[in-house]
Amino acid sequence: MSELYYESAYSLSSRLRAGEISSEAVTEAVIQRYHEVESRIRAYLSVDESDALAQARASDRRRAGGEALGPLDGIPVSLKDIIAVAGQPLTCASKILESFVSPYDATVTRRLKEAGSVIWGRLNMDEFAMGSSTENSAFQTTRNPWDTTRVPGGSSGGSAASVAAGESVLALGSDTGGSIRQPAAHCGVVGLKPTYGLVSRYGLVAFASSLDQIGPVGRSVEDVAMLLQVIAGHDPLDSTSFQTSIPDFLESLRGESDPWKLGVPKEYLGEGLDGQVRESVQSAIQFYADDVGCEIREISLPLTDLAVPVYYIIATAEASSNLARYDGVRYGYRSENVNDHLDLYFRSRGEGFGAEVKRRIILGTYALSSGYYDAYYLRAQKVRTLIRKDFLDAFASVDAIISPVAPTPAFVIGERLSDPLSMYLSDIYTLSVNLSGLPAISIPGGFSREGLPIGIQLIGKPFDESRLLAMAYRFEQDHPYSRMRPGI
Ligand code: GLN
Repeated sequence: MSELYYESAYSLSSRLRAGEISSEAVTEAVIQRYHEVESRIRAYLSVDESDALAQARASDRRRAGGEALGPLDGIPVSLKDIIAVAGQPLTCASKILESFVSPYDATVTRRLKEAGSVIWGRLNMDEFAMGSSTENSAFQTTRNPWDTTRVPGGSSGGSAASVAAGESVLALGSDTGGSIRQPAAHCGVVGLKPTYGLVSRYGLVAFASSLDQIGPVGRSVEDVAMLLQVIAGHDPLDSTSFQTSIPDFLESLRGESDPWKLGVPKEYLGEGLDGQVRESVQSAIQFYADDVGCEIREISLPLTDLAVPVYYIIATAEASSNLARYDGVRYGYRSENVNDHLDLYFRSRGEGFGAEVKRRIILGTYALSSGYYDAYYLRAQKVRTLIRKDFLDAFASVDAIISPVAPTPAFVIGERLSDPLSMYLSDIYTLSVNLSGLPAISIPGGFSREGLPIGIQLIGKPFDESRLLAMAYRFEQDHPYSRMRPGI
């Protein structure tokens, strides 16, 4: 690929280092690409071109002075509009935060700035990250670059679509139940959901705090490894952030290892899975067995059927509590012409939140209310512990687990909007990973007959991102899918 906007961060980084190109040229190419395709993709909620170019020139000056900050210095990275950047809008694609500007940087933002990245564009998403299609954005529906009549997935649909379309080199998303992996799968890019605790959530607007993680999206495994390197690591500002040593992720891609033992959960290849997705997963399994020499073992995750109900109790319960802060007084939207303070709360929330967010707040409040707490929330927490135990038991005999990401390729815009349950059920292969706090990566694993990307998921042990990246890299080396580009 000769266009700068489609070049990998890895290659741009070495060419910047060699002085062959400038960050300004890369950033200009990305901005130009944005102007070419954005009216068809609609991945961005806002951009600040002059600010991005100023950051790029600053990077070029640093480099000229021999003070480049690291491999991502000068590389454009776009952020999902749920991650705080000081002085930039932070809307969560919600009317309630439409005019809110963040007063501070998220830790991941600060780390990117310290690494010299060009922070470019605010990416569209489902409102407060609730959804699987970006159709729940209060402002616009992002289109899938491979077929603009289809959804890009969600909730980080803007992140995946912008990277797939060349409107950014890299992006950050957030994943509470699949929101990085599922859009990455639908848009034919690589997305990683790190272990709970590996990446700080300070400055990530909270949806469901026991599940939320920030993670990288890129067009190659190397690119995702490079971005993860910058954002991973302990942060005293996030009490769930883990004290653990951070490996060199790029280096671990190429390291030698014994052939991995790969688990195939029998519950994940059964009913409800599209035939073409099943074929892609099966041929990936075949590849790991025949070409890599992996031992393949069938495993069982017997509580798989309970993941959807358990997730939708826990996530809505936590959301109902986290979203209580949007009261029309402290942040964002405030209703006019109110009678008293209660009326102010009711109207501001009633007018500011969209339908899906309200549905979740009502469900979550119900699950937490007295008399129902034990029957729903407490029971869900107990089953959650058992779901995690199933995974940890499986990991006693395998190094990683392979599965589909989503049951079908990207669906047509509007198709599932009137049926929230069918939307929720499509999260079946991704939710358990968040409930268990595990890392998982989605990699391009093939195309459907209609030319839509199909993702493969690799799930790892806690803090075993290095191995997942190495396995993904091995697959990518032998398959063309990550190097294919949509004809927008
Ligand atoms: N689709 C899931 C939901 O709607 C997951 C969202 C996410 O990971 N943020 O809750």
